Amino acid sequence: MGGGNGAKAAQKRERNLKNAAGGAQKSQLKTNQAAMDIQCQICKATFLKTTREKALTEHATNKHTKTLPECFPTFQGDAPK
Ligand SMILES: [Zn+2]
Repeated sequence: MGGGNGAKAAQKRERNLKNAAGGAQKSQLKTNQAAMDIQCQICKATFLKTTREKALTEHATNKHTKTLPECFPTFQGDAPK
């Protein structure tokens, strides 16, 4: 009688984990002093001239519990486009 041949199949699991982290974050924290036209009269903090009136109002309210004109008397409001 013939013998049996057992075939063994070897299973290999290959896992290729590629972490494609190609995210380059460019943060420009530098602000030109010349671009700062708005300065808080209370804490002397400077803001970009493009800062919205809303943000300035929040600063005045949250930081000093004051109104916007009290902190930024020279602020003319949001510049029209
Ligand atoms: Zn302030």
